[in-house]
Amino acid sequence: MSDISLKEKYPEFFNSNSDLSCGPGWHLLIDGICRIAEKQKCHFHLFQVKQKFRGLRIHYDTNNLVVKGAIELAEFISFYTCEFCGNKGFSCCKGGWYATMCEDCKEKKGYIENKINIE
Ligand SMILES: [Zn+2]
Repeated sequence: MSDISLKEKYPEFFNSNSDLSCGPGWHLLIDGICRIAEKQKCHFHLFQVKQKFRGLRIHYDTNNLVVKGAIELAEFISFYTCEFCGNKGFSCCKGGWYATMCEDCKEKKGYIENKINIE
């Protein structure tokens, strides 16, 4: 997606302390969540968006069940989506570092496939 950062696109959901540190391949997932929150016209705040244990981890505040469901789905999809380019991804590792990447990004970054059961 875009050169426009998500913080600029959705200033109402972030503040200056919000930490958006996941790779660009997952920004479309965050964009989708923010669009849904806009449509719900609910209270929604993003504190932190990062990668943890190969997947997207979102710390947020809302009571809206539709937005909560969207976040759960985005976190699930992230385990199958390259964090760096958004292509279909799989679990990779390099030393003690783990990430979800596509074949190309894995090669570029010197990772190897991590054959594990994702559950
Ligand atoms: Zn990739």
